[in-house]
Amino acid sequence: MIRSKGFVALVGAGPGDAGLITLRGRDLLAAADCVVYDRLVGDGVLAMMPPEAVKINVGKTGGGNFVPQDEINEILVREAEKGQMVVRLKGGDPFLFGRAGEEIEALNAKGIPFEVVPGVTSALGGLACAGIPVTHRVDARSLHIITAHTKEGGLARLDYEALARLGGTLIFMMGASAVREICSELIKAGMPSETPAAAVESASTAAQRLFTGTLGTLASLCEKGGLHSPALITVGKTTAFAASFAWKKFLPLSGRKIIVTRPRERAGKLSAMLRARGAEVVEAPCIATRRIKADLPDLSKYGWLGFTSVTGVEAFFALLAENGRDIRSAGAAKIAAIGPATAAALKERGLLTDYMPEVYDGAHLACGLADLVKEKPLMMLRAKEGSPELTEELAARYVKFTELPVYETYFERPEVIPQGADAAVFTSASTVRGFKAAMPGLEVPCACCIGVQTAEEAKRAGFKNIVTAKKATLESLTEALEEIYHDNTPEKTEKE
Ligand code: SAH
Repeated sequence: MIRSKGFVALVGAGPGDAGLITLRGRDLLAAADCVVYDRLVGDGVLAMMPPEAVKINVGKTGGGNFVPQDEINEILVREAEKGQMVVRLKGGDPFLFGRAGEEIEALNAKGIPFEVVPGVTSALGGLACAGIPVTHRVDARSLHIITAHTKEGGLARLDYEALARLGGTLIFMMGASAVREICSELIKAGMPSETPAAAVESASTAAQRLFTGTLGTLASLCEKGGLHSPALITVGKTTAFAASFAWKKFLPLSGRKIIVTRPRERAGKLSAMLRARGAEVVEAPCIATRRIKADLPDLSKYGWLGFTSVTGVEAFFALLAENGRDIRSAGAAKIAAIGPATAAALKERGLLTDYMPEVYDGAHLACGLADLVKEKPLMMLRAKEGSPELTEELAARYVKFTELPVYETYFERPEVIPQGADAAVFTSASTVRGFKAAMPGLEVPCACCIGVQTAEEAKRAGFKNIVTAKKATLESLTEALEEIYHDNTPEKTEKE
């Protein structure tokens, strides 16, 4: 535990992208008993909330209303006084138009200890994601962050003459609906209408859109494109750099929101691979696994041990240890693995793989083993509800085999139901079934599947656009996604 109980951490979640929360913020979030979060926190960050934590959404949209600030203060005090480690998760930086001050006053009034974890503010980080440098040598010697709206929700009365005189970069927040007013007031105050200006919507997420123009043109562009909140409006010479600095185009999956459905403990590598290619990834684990505690039979009777997943390898070794044995009890049994990830997990435990099929699926594993298994039978160590093709194929080929279920799979409900995703990635048929069970109404245009059996399950689940990886590996899955979105980057930049 990082913190004693009865504590509140005000944590900046960054502008939306899951990679832009600080390490400290992430650690505190992982240790939270209770998370109180806002509308602007990205789905990828929300997905990091611990499953067992109490989650309170105080920024509801679509039907629900915002929870008034007084009530949020009361929630924080109430949860902390219960002895909880509370994380108050806020978009961007907690102190920049984040009302953290009011929350701290409420905590101080009750003597509740707290910590503030700074965040990447959208004002700076969001613009960086759009390739807008907030200063640049001679072009801007200062920057000014301004709210376009007041506490009461009305337009703020600003001293536009003063702003126009500053000569620095101006960044307006909470101004999506006030672009016309901001631009015309600045022109009225003496700024040339040719001054470069830009708007960035949903910065750092897959939905990021960039509008670039001038004080004279930006408002019409934004109206035509339907700019909506959250958005940053920025004015000044440096905004023009976006034309050559917008870097997202170099990443093949940028502008794509992708749901990873694998079990929580298996998701990390795939998510990292997709994020490295620019995708906004939301981990929504739809299945989980738990070990089955079985009595191990005499393993020396078997000529082959077969593994179909990393989880199977882990569960088998845990079972061995629990039974007071180690791998020597398998004598000289040979080892079969369904694919390279499983073989790598075996290698980590000192076992080399004697057979791995060319195509990494159950049916091919069974075919290959049919020629290899002789007098001493095969022991398959796998999931209780593993794909039937393997069993059917072994039986059809009269292979002597036993199956020992070492773990079972069950459906899980993810922490967030991600809206507006472009694709969901499925690494087994059971992830497809779990996805449908957890999010029955969710429409996702594309299912990206690790292999044929998974693709068939996706078809049964009603997916229309299904892509199947060439090989059943995470690398190949990632390539499949790159291929479908190759040359097909969404046009999310609008210029005059
Ligand atoms: N504390 C936050 C700001 C909260 S005020 C921060 O430091 O970023 C809310 C305003 O922030 C929005 O109206 C919008 O102007 C801006 N904002 C927050 N996230 C944004 C994003 N991803 N893209 C564009 N603007 C964003």
